[in-house]
Amino acid sequence: MKDNLATYYKELGVSKEVYEYSVKIEKKLKDRFNDLDQIAELNQLKVLKAMQKNRISEAHLEGTTGYGYNDLGREGIEGVFADIFQTEDALVRPQITCGTHALGIALSANVRPGDEILSPVGKPYDTLEEVIGIRPSKGSLAEYGVTYAQVDLLENGDFDFENIKNAINEKTKLVTIQRSKGYATRPTLSVKRIGELISFIREIKPEVLIMVDNCYGEFVEETEPSQVGADLVVGSLIKNLGGGLAPIGGYICGKKELIEQCSYRLTTPGLGKEVGATLGVNRLFLQGIFLAPTVVNSALKGAIFAANLYESLGFPVIPNGTESRHDIIQAVEFGDGDKLIAFCQGIQAASPVDSYVTPEPWDMPGYDSDVIMAAGAFVSGSSIELSADGPMKEPYAVYFQGGLTYPHAKFGIMMSLQKMVEKSLVTLS
Ligand SMILES: *Cc1c(COP(=O)(O)O)cnc(C)c1O
Repeated sequence: MKDNLATYYKELGVSKEVYEYSVKIEKKLKDRFNDLDQIAELNQLKVLKAMQKNRISEAHLEGTTGYGYNDLGREGIEGVFADIFQTEDALVRPQITCGTHALGIALSANVRPGDEILSPVGKPYDTLEEVIGIRPSKGSLAEYGVTYAQVDLLENGDFDFENIKNAINEKTKLVTIQRSKGYATRPTLSVKRIGELISFIREIKPEVLIMVDNCYGEFVEETEPSQVGADLVVGSLIKNLGGGLAPIGGYICGKKELIEQCSYRLTTPGLGKEVGATLGVNRLFLQGIFLAPTVVNSALKGAIFAANLYESLGFPVIPNGTESRHDIIQAVEFGDGDKLIAFCQGIQAASPVDSYVTPEPWDMPGYDSDVIMAAGAFVSGSSIELSADGPMKEPYAVYFQGGLTYPHAKFGIMMSLQKMVEKSLVTLS
C-alpha cells in the first residue's frame, strides 16, 4: 500500500525525498486531525438534522424559471440554512452574486440615512470599503448619508473595550464583526470571542443590530456566531458552505424582520422573498451544504499540514503549526519572490483543472504590486477549492486555502515543496 502510494506520487512528479519528508510531518498530526473529524461529525449531523426536519424530498431538487413563485426547493434550502444557524429565517439565493454582495445587502437593507455602522474589530475586508464608503465610491452607503466608525483591535489582538464603548452612540444602528482575518494580519476570531464582544456591546446598547461576516469560518467550529447573539450571519456559497458544488450564491441568516428587509433590498420592495427563480441550482445548493462539513474538514487538514511542513523548514506561518483554527486560511511568509512563485506553481500543477498552466506574477488592477495566483478550480474563483495567491512584495507571503478533499490538498502542498526542491530553493534534511 505504502509502496503503491509512493509510486503514484512519483508518477505525478513528487520525489521520494519530498514524499518521505511529508509522511514524517503528517504522522505528527494524527491527534489534531482526530479533533477536526469530531467537529466535522457534529456538523454533518447538524446538516442532516436540518434536512430531515425540513422534509427535503426529491421535489426540492428541482428548480423554477421566470418569476420563481412558490419555488419549493428554494424555500426548503432557506429552511435548512435557518435551522443550521438556529435563526428565524434565511435568504439563500443564486441571485446573491458573491460574499461582498451578500454583505452589501445585509448592511444596506438594515440601515437608514443618519444611521452609523460600527466595526469594533478594525478595518473590514477590502471589498467592503467601497460598500460602506470608507474609500469613496459610487453608490456607497456614505452617499446615502450612512456614517461609519471603526475601533481597531489592540496590538495584542484583544478588543479595545474602552474605545468600543466610547464609539457607541445614539446613531449606532449596526455593528459589523468580521470573523476571519481575511488577508489582514489580525487574529481570526473564535465564536467564543465573538460572543464575548456581542455581550459587551449589548450591555451598552441592547437594541443595536449585530452582523457577522462569516466568510471562511463556517463549520470550522461546532457553533456559529448566530448561536452567541449575532442578529445576522452572512457569507458566500463559493466558499465553505457551497461544499464546492454551488456554482454561485450567498446566504444571509438571521432574525425574521431583518431577513425581510434584506429580501426587499435583494429584489425590490413589495416582492421580497416571493420571487427569484433558482434555475436548476437547488440540487447543487442542497448537495453542497450536505458535503460542506467534510469539505471544510479537508481544507483545514490541508492548512494544518502546510503550516507544519513549512514551519519545519523554518518559514514563519500564520496561524502557526499548533494554534487552534477559526478559519480555513493559511499564510506562509517566504521572504523571497522565487519561493512564492514556486509555491503557486506547485499548487497549480496539482490541480484537477488547468494543471498544465504555469502561473506568473501579473499587474492585477487594484493592487500596488504584481500578484501571483494559482487556481485550477471547477467553479471560477472558488476559494473552497485549493487555491493560492500572494503579492510580489515583502514579506512575499502566500495565502492559500481550500481543498475539496484532503488527499488533494496534501498533494498540492507536496507539489509546492517539490517545485522549491527542484529549483534548489530549499533543502530537506
Ligand atoms: C471572501 C470574503 C469576502 C467577500 O466575498 P467575495 O465572495 O469575494 O465577494 C468578505 N469577507 C471576508 C472575510 C471574506 O473572506
